[in-house]
Amino acid sequence: MFWDKKIETFDRAALEQLQLQRLRKIVRRVAAHVPFYREKFAELGVRPKDIHTLDDLRRLPFTTSADLRANYPTGLLAVSYDDTLRLHTSSGTTGKPKALFFSRQDVENAAELCARSFVMTGVTKKDVFQNMMTYGMFTGALVTHYGAEKVGCLVIPAGPGNSERQLMLMQDFRTTFIHLTPSYALYLATFLEKHGVVPRRDLALRKAFVGAEPYTDETRRKIEESLGLDVYNSYGLSEMNGPGVAFECEHKHGMHVWEDHFLIEIINPATGEPVKNGEPGELVLTTLTREAMPLLRYRTRDITSIITKPCSCGRTHHRLNRITGRSDDMLIVRGVNIYPQQIERVLMAQSGVGRNYQISLEGLDEMTVKVELAEAGFEGQVEQLMKLQSQLAEKLRAEILVKPQVQLLPPGSLPVSDGKAKRVIDNRKL
Ligand code: ADP
Ligand code: ZN
Repeated sequence: MFWDKKIETFDRAALEQLQLQRLRKIVRRVAAHVPFYREKFAELGVRPKDIHTLDDLRRLPFTTSADLRANYPTGLLAVSYDDTLRLHTSSGTTGKPKALFFSRQDVENAAELCARSFVMTGVTKKDVFQNMMTYGMFTGALVTHYGAEKVGCLVIPAGPGNSERQLMLMQDFRTTFIHLTPSYALYLATFLEKHGVVPRRDLALRKAFVGAEPYTDETRRKIEESLGLDVYNSYGLSEMNGPGVAFECEHKHGMHVWEDHFLIEIINPATGEPVKNGEPGELVLTTLTREAMPLLRYRTRDITSIITKPCSCGRTHHRLNRITGRSDDMLIVRGVNIYPQQIERVLMAQSGVGRNYQISLEGLDEMTVKVELAEAGFEGQVEQLMKLQSQLAEKLRAEILVKPQVQLLPPGSLPVSDGKAKRVIDNRKL
């Protein structure tokens, strides 16, 4: 199903023509209204009229999250303060948040792209949407909320956590689709199991949009099996309106990026040069339609690769492979580069292992992987547990080249966060 068939299946040449037109316009606008970009253009000796083709994008400056912080709160505004309609912030890690402004048209576009994304997976106005993302300054909940309302769904702004209430709402209002983080999805599955709820039998759930954190295909499968629904990967970031940048279609093979609103580049994070087509690198996005705060070549730090092969759904917009992590997520343990996703993949593929885990780094580079067991009541079975423990340690060593300590814990013993999960606790004294 299509929300806007013409644009979603637009001929590539026409789509690229539209992108170029929009790029030139946005470059002119930032040069006229944003001193930060004016100065950057001067430094690089580039003028808006030098942009003749999409390849000229590479002449433009990058924008980083440090630039957003340095220009906090209003330095990157391209419209007058009176013409802003909504403020979101992105938490980031330290110091001041990043302030993200939306104009009326930006609010409208963000909802439109979410509506497009939902409908792409078969959502209709008959669906009931329980939104389990955090409402507030975070874009995750509000933007999808308005997207689902645009489709005409009944929207239940539940927010995350309080699983008892989630269950009651799902039962009483026959919720058909939900939007949540992978870590909360795994927790919710455990909660339902504990309460004897069999989702396929007792609930009307059919789809989950899962995003905001990286997760693996193994985790997707685990969520699908335990909640009895289809999981669609959903990607976005506050700097680009929030959710609705890229979503999976019914084929669940890569996320279509809405290229009439965003220009994609994949670069080598160390050199800033483009990678070869299809190779992994850092995703860089340029907003093509944002009015309040256009961003040129924004370095997302998210690692992914692009799929340019046509998709059998008929959409012409290119796809992104699963985000494997942020370039700054990488851990260096005993000189080896490790992404937490590698560990997750091993854990989630292992039978007997439950749904929550944590990686802890202590002392002088000691790594412990703490993971919950699938079921309680293993206390008596010491031998089996020891076997599982050593199996996991071996499989992890094969994957990450470092052999960690493995700690098996009863279900429900690791903390669950309301927002994004904190998977790595680094207390090393290096
Ligand atoms: P914050 O920057 O405070 O974490 P955002 O909501 O802007 O807040 O987070 C956006 C980031 O979340 C992305 O840059 C990416 O790292 C991560 N993210 C969002 N969706 C996904 C997804 N589907 N897969 C992997 N990572 C995701
Ligand atoms: Zn598709």
